[in-house]
Amino acid sequence: MAYLCRDCSYRGKKGGSGGACPACGSFNMTLAGAAPPERQVDSGNSARRIRLLIGLWVLFFALLAQKLLE
Ligand SMILES: [Zn+2]
Repeated sequence: MAYLCRDCSYRGKKGGSGGACPACGSFNMTLAGAAPPERQVDSGNSARRIRLLIGLWVLFFALLAQKLLE
């Protein structure tokens, strides 16, 4: 994983403070090796997991309520 500056072609393992370029201070930085689509897939997976978790809890409480009402 390396930080790439699009303004001054800086390349390094460390980014500046707040994601700015340590060489020119530009925020036009990209992370080489960490593809943005991969991150989107990760966030989609976590959102799906949260939805699945909520669904399972709802199912659990529905079954619990059914048992208590019997
Ligand atoms: Zn730069």
